[in-house]
Amino acid sequence: MPRDAGTLRADSRLISVCDNDYLRLRAHPHLIEAVREAAKKWGVGGGSSRLVAGGSPVHCDLEERFARFKHAQAALLFPTGYMANLAVLSALAQPGDLLALDKHSHASLIDGARLASAQGAMMRTFPHGRLDRLASLLSEHRNAHPDAARFIVTDTVFSMDGDIADLAGLAALRNEFDAALIVDEAHATGVLGPQGQGADADGLADVTISTASKALGSLGGIVSGPSLMIDWLVNAARPFIYTTAAMATQAAAIDAALDLVESQPQRRERLAQVGAAVRAGLSRLGFEACGAPTPIVPIIVGSAQRAVALAAHLRAHGVLAPAIRPPTVAPNTARVRLSLHCDLTDEDVDRLCRVVCSFGESNPT
Ligand code: PMP
Repeated sequence: MPRDAGTLRADSRLISVCDNDYLRLRAHPHLIEAVREAAKKWGVGGGSSRLVAGGSPVHCDLEERFARFKHAQAALLFPTGYMANLAVLSALAQPGDLLALDKHSHASLIDGARLASAQGAMMRTFPHGRLDRLASLLSEHRNAHPDAARFIVTDTVFSMDGDIADLAGLAALRNEFDAALIVDEAHATGVLGPQGQGADADGLADVTISTASKALGSLGGIVSGPSLMIDWLVNAARPFIYTTAAMATQAAAIDAALDLVESQPQRRERLAQVGAAVRAGLSRLGFEACGAPTPIVPIIVGSAQRAVALAAHLRAHGVLAPAIRPPTVAPNTARVRLSLHCDLTDEDVDRLCRVVCSFGESNPT
């Protein structure tokens, strides 16, 4: 983290496209007030594990509401999205089961699968988006272990490229190979779908993990899916059982964020407009940008040095965006990742595109 990140964030002359506060809810008075009220009533510590005495009606109400929001039977709150992913994969996959992950899945899914494989599950990755390769993995596993379970695991919106998984294709393979589909909606919840439910608005996945740390403006991971699966997590997921409960203030903040996601669709709509305008602006100026309607726009420049130079150029011209380098991304795909938000003005978008373009002019490849 840059040492002066806090100062930069407070400097309004900078266009900040470096965080995941897509709907600009993190400092919204409605969330702040909800947190204040919950803190007064429930305090600010988790106190103990949920299974001991760490729960409250605020947790339970939020979980019920979140399940309705996701059109799922039940939901479960974790302190972070990272822990939710660890919990789901390590608790659901049993010895001999297959976890087949898209290679671009988030590190927390990879780590969850590693935990499961340490317990005897089989972890395999398939090249990004290659459903033919996934089909081979599923088929081999079914032939070798007809009685074991198979889990297909993916982000819906990929965090480094901003592209969207082919959920219909994945669901078709799930059906064909009698598997289960687990999706991470971290960058989609609150952003995509007619009511902001996410990329999987049609409910194709069996299990969904969301995080509140992005569009919902606060912190917390939420798993949603069938009640039986949620009961299993409560009783078997070590990252749920052996950690202190999420704070009631987290549940209250998420609840307040859902109020705004539901009542202020204009935030989501503006975010989509900003995304389309940045993509169009960059491509007009000769930059390739992935076309998916998400707030993540990577500017892939190749070498780590070039990505750092682009980030420095942007910063010198008032745009704050991070350089992302290997090993976070594949070799020779270092990039600056723009994470857009709904408060960007048309002038911001215009300036952003021009500044990126001026780097290309003064630093030809
Ligand atoms: N999944 C994805 C796709 C993410 O980008 C992140 C956060 N970087 C997480 C999970 C983890 O979420 P959290 O920050 O709430 O732990």
